[in-house]
Amino acid sequence: MTRAFNFCAGPAALPEAVLQQAQADLVDWQGRGCSVMEMSHRGKDFVAIAEQAEQDLRDLLAIPANYKVLFLQGGASLQFAQIPMNLLRGKASADYVCTGVWSEKAIEEARKFGGVNVVATDVANNFTRVPSFDSWQLDPHAAYLHYTPNETIHGVEFDFIPSVGDVPLVADFSSSILSEPLDVSKFGLIYAGAQKNIGPAGIVVVIVRDDLLGQVLPGTPTLLDYAVAARNGSMYNTPPTYSWYLSGLVFQWLKQQGGLAAMAETNARKARKLYAAIDDNPFYANPVAVPNRSRMNVPFTLADARLDKTFLAEAEQLRLLNLAGHRSVGGMRASLYNAVPEAAVDALIAFMADFSRRHG
Ligand SMILES: *Cc1c(COP(=O)(O)O)cnc(C)c1O
Repeated sequence: MTRAFNFCAGPAALPEAVLQQAQADLVDWQGRGCSVMEMSHRGKDFVAIAEQAEQDLRDLLAIPANYKVLFLQGGASLQFAQIPMNLLRGKASADYVCTGVWSEKAIEEARKFGGVNVVATDVANNFTRVPSFDSWQLDPHAAYLHYTPNETIHGVEFDFIPSVGDVPLVADFSSSILSEPLDVSKFGLIYAGAQKNIGPAGIVVVIVRDDLLGQVLPGTPTLLDYAVAARNGSMYNTPPTYSWYLSGLVFQWLKQQGGLAAMAETNARKARKLYAAIDDNPFYANPVAVPNRSRMNVPFTLADARLDKTFLAEAEQLRLLNLAGHRSVGGMRASLYNAVPEAAVDALIAFMADFSRRHG
């Protein structure tokens, strides 16, 4: 059996070495006679697995000691609500930047809990660039500023970290966390659903500065209070133990690859090649402004949309999987997360050239 090249936007490819480790551990984890799924989350074996995962993530991102690392449930989508519940802290409103579908969803949800000030939006350009920072209508009294560093559907990535003084910066890093080194100290809160660049679905990682905890909106469920999660080591209730364990294996794999600086180099090379193949061939197009092209999610269209189905069918025959674009934008999308090897990108580029010769 050989593994296909999987360009899925999420749940996304996992490193083969991680899957093999999980397979070896599946029935009998380290001689304990049971799998990780069958362990008490409060037993010393699972607590060790959980603590090691947190430590490895802290090492990879050089997370400062005054930040809590939480392993929660409900995906990034529940964070759209949990963030205002926890971070409004008596303030009237929060600032949001709108650069695509995921920021729109975060904004809609936040409106249920307080005022939302959309400081900039690129909707008029169909979400193809990041509005220039000079144009943002920032509120110096905002509870926080929320943005989406990488818009997974439109393939738009920020090429800067906004600098907003004392207003806590909140970022949805679901599709680009761990793709390059990051200065966590610039943020109040970072969150990421695991199923893109961390591990399997079922867990969301929240990294939050500890002075922001403990001032939830009245009526906030206990389970949605970050301070409760922090006090209980993310085990106020039963956590998704197997997703946590697999995420930990991915963190160890990233360390073995040389950490995030090494990943950043490979990721930049993978994206550069694919964008060059699109730009150099009139059969393919990508609408995103060059400085804001995502390294993780590369949407592209064919010269004739009637060929989309043929393109996808031929790709699948070559075991290049999940290249259909999101239903809201159409066309194609190749997601190039950490676990997608450079050989996958090379195979895709070769297929694209061949396809355009035969159909262009
Ligand atoms: C996938 C994604 C989400 C939604 O994640 P869920 O875990 O399914 O809720 C939110 N934001 C971004 C940027 C994403 O890529």
